[in-house]
Amino acid sequence: MLGLMQDRPLMIADIIRHAARHHGATEVVSRLIDGSLHRTTYAVVERRARRLAGVLMRLGVAPGDRVATLAWNSFRHLELYYAISGMGAVCHTVNPRLSADDVSYILNHAADGVLFADTSFVTLLETAAPLLAGHLRAVVLLASPAEMVPVTLPAGIALLCYETLMAEADEAFDWPVFDERTASGLCYTSGTTGRPKGVLYSHRSTVLHAMAANGAAVFGLKPGDRAMLVVPMFHVNAWGSPFTAVAAGATLIMPGRHLDGASVAGLMNAERVSVSAGVPTVWLGLLAHLRTSGERLATVRRLIIGGSACPPALIEAFDREYGVTVEHAWGMTETSPLGTFNTPRVVEGEDAAAALRRKSKQGTTIFGIDIRVVGSDGREAPWDGQSSGDLQVRGHWVCSGYYGDPPGSANDAEGWFTTGDVAAIDASGNMEITDRSKDVIKSGGEWISSILLENIAVSLPGIAEAAVVAAVHPKWDERPLLLVVARPDAVIDPDAVLAEYRQRVAKYWVPDAVIVLDELPHTATGKISKLTLRQRFRNYLLERTAAE
Ligand code: AMP
Repeated sequence: MLGLMQDRPLMIADIIRHAARHHGATEVVSRLIDGSLHRTTYAVVERRARRLAGVLMRLGVAPGDRVATLAWNSFRHLELYYAISGMGAVCHTVNPRLSADDVSYILNHAADGVLFADTSFVTLLETAAPLLAGHLRAVVLLASPAEMVPVTLPAGIALLCYETLMAEADEAFDWPVFDERTASGLCYTSGTTGRPKGVLYSHRSTVLHAMAANGAAVFGLKPGDRAMLVVPMFHVNAWGSPFTAVAAGATLIMPGRHLDGASVAGLMNAERVSVSAGVPTVWLGLLAHLRTSGERLATVRRLIIGGSACPPALIEAFDREYGVTVEHAWGMTETSPLGTFNTPRVVEGEDAAAALRRKSKQGTTIFGIDIRVVGSDGREAPWDGQSSGDLQVRGHWVCSGYYGDPPGSANDAEGWFTTGDVAAIDASGNMEITDRSKDVIKSGGEWISSILLENIAVSLPGIAEAAVVAAVHPKWDERPLLLVVARPDAVIDPDAVLAEYRQRVAKYWVPDAVIVLDELPHTATGKISKLTLRQRFRNYLLERTAAE
C-alpha cells in the first residue's frame, strides 16, 4: 500500500519561488567586477530569473541543453543558476582558473550552445573560442550595454549583452514541473590527473542536498543570517550555498573576484556578515590580513572550512584571537559536495588539546550520506580512529557516473563511490582524512601523513603556508620533503623547524629537508598543487646526495 501524501517532484525553481514569496525583501548583495556594490532582493532575482528563462528560449536553448557560465559570484550568476535549471536545461559552471586548454576541452565535451561570461575573461574567451566552433552559438557578456567590452570571436559565435537581452524579454515565463531526476547542473572535477570529468547533478540531488546541508548540525542558516559566499559558484555549486541560503531566507553577500584578506575583511564588516564558507587558503589570507592590519571582524561568528584539510592552528587562532568558530567540513565535486561536517559540541571531561584534535577532524556524516573506510585487505576498517584506508561514500547526492558514461559506472557493485581519500573513522564516527591516496608518502613500507606534517608546519611562528610531498629516496623509497612559505617579515630557520618536528613526531616522520619558497602553486580550486610540487621536487634528495 502506498502512502497518501502529496507527491510533488523536488524542483530547484521551487527554492527561488519560496524565497521570493516568503523572503521577498531579503537582500542579495554583490561586489561587481569594478568593485562597486549592487543590491537586489529575492523577489527581484526570481522575476529576473523568469525573464532570463525567456531569453534562453529565444537563444534556442531547449530542455536538456547545456548552458555554460564563466563567472564570479554575483546576482547575475545566481539568476543563471535558477533560470537555466528551472527551464529544464543544465547549468554548466566552468572554472575560469583552469587553463584555456582545459576550458575548451570542457566546453567541447559538454557541447554547450551558449556561454555566459564575466567581462574579466576576454583573454580566456578569445583563446578558447576558436576551438569551440561547431556547437557554441553565442557568448553573452554579464554586463550592461555601457559595460560591454570587445571580444574577438570566430564567425558563427555571436557576442551579446546580458542586460540588453533581459530588457527585451518579459516575465511571462512560468516555472515548469518535470521529472525530479532531470539533470540540472554540471561541474567538472579539477582533473589533477587526466582530463576533467563532469559530475551531472539532478534537481532531486540538489534539493535534497540543500535541505540536508541546512540542518541545524550543518550550515543551519535562517532568516536574519548574513551569509557571505566566498566559495566560488564555479566550483561544486559553491557548496550548495546558492540553494541552502536562498531556501533558508538568509541574506547572501557575493564577493565577486575580490578574495584577498583585506577585501574579504572589508566586505564582511561593511555588510555585517555572520557566517561564511571557503577553502583554507582564503581563511589563511584573512587571518594574515587581520594580524598585520589589526582589523577586527565585527559580526562574523562562524567560518566553515573545507576543500582541503583545515590546520588546527587556524581553528585555534580564529577562536582565541577573534572569537570566531571554525567548523570543518569535507566533501568533493562528486558528493555535491557535503559529506561530513564537524558540528560544534561540548564533550564532558575533554581537555583543550583533545577538543582541538576533535574539531580538526573532518566530522561526522550528515543524514543522506554514508561513509566507510576499506583497508588494504578489502574489508571495512574498524572505527578506532587508527585503521586507515580508502574512504568510500554513497548517498542521495553522490555521483553515480560521470557525464557521458553509463549510470552506476563510477560506483562498485554495492553502490559505493571510492573518493581517492585516505581516512580513518573514530569510535564517535568522526572521520579524519590523512591524505589523498596519490599524495600518501610511503617510507620504508610505512605510511606518513602529509596533512599531519603540514598542520605542524603552519602551527609554527613564521610559516604562512606549507606542503609536504614525497621525494624519491635510494634506501627508503620515499621520504617527506617540507616546502614552506614565510609570513611577511618572517625568516624561517630550517634547522629550528626540524627541531620542532623531532619533538612532535616519530623519528621517521621528520622531513628530510625544509625548503623555503616565495610561493606555493595552487590549483584552479584554490588547493595547493601537490602534483606540481611532486614533479618539481621528486628527485631533490637524489640530486642533493649526488651533489654532496
Ligand atoms: P574537489 O572535487 O575539487 O572539491 O576536491 C575534493 C577533494 O578535496 C576531496 O576528495 C579531498 O581530497 C579534498 N578535501 C575536501 N575537503 C577536505 C577536508 N576538509 N580535508 C581534507 N581534504 C579535503
